[in-house]
Amino acid sequence: MHELTAQGNDEHLSRQLLHRATNTGWIEVIAGSMFSGKSEELIRRLRRAKIARQKVQVFKPQIDTRYALDYIVSHSEMRHESNAVASSAELLSQVEPDTEVIGIDEAQFFDNGLVSVANELARRGVRVIIAGLDQDFRGVPFDPVPQLLSIAEYITKTHAICVRCGQPANYSQRIVESEERVAVGASDMYEARCRRCFVPHADAPTAHLVEASIDL
Ligand SMILES: [Zn+2]
Repeated sequence: MHELTAQGNDEHLSRQLLHRATNTGWIEVIAGSMFSGKSEELIRRLRRAKIARQKVQVFKPQIDTRYALDYIVSHSEMRHESNAVASSAELLSQVEPDTEVIGIDEAQFFDNGLVSVANELARRGVRVIIAGLDQDFRGVPFDPVPQLLSIAEYITKTHAICVRCGQPANYSQRIVESEERVAVGASDMYEARCRRCFVPHADAPTAHLVEASIDL
């Protein structure tokens, strides 16, 4: 037991060795609100895989053009090269046969086909690491991240810090008005809030939110 605790930092390495022995791949999902360090954690794992001299490929959806097309970038400005793809099918078609580790950022902007693509890659023996927003700005589960959480072997839930009260934050509060569910925005459009301070829709009322609240 003590040994396991002491090896906490190397948990991914242990997983790797474990799975390697059986020659199977697996899926890791890093999910959380905005500003919770998802991309940073993804980049950290990818860097470690590279240090281990594994062949790594990284993908992100074309919709995310916040910073640079050829990089995934965390809010803290860590970056890693990536390929922007239009769909999960295009992602699968670009995977090279000798790739051992695949990183996918901003999973919430992909189509639902990403679920079967992730399964297929893991079946081939690839370690698939996926980062994504698990809820939209209304606090509604953001497809396909909930489905990816279901099929993943390993899940990491990241938390931001609530800007109102300093508690761990699980929600992305939209602070400007917008009609889009998917507004690709940086810090000026959203802020991290805890459950108590999160007020869905309050700061950015829109017409179809009335509709959405019926679904809830
Ligand atoms: Zn709070």
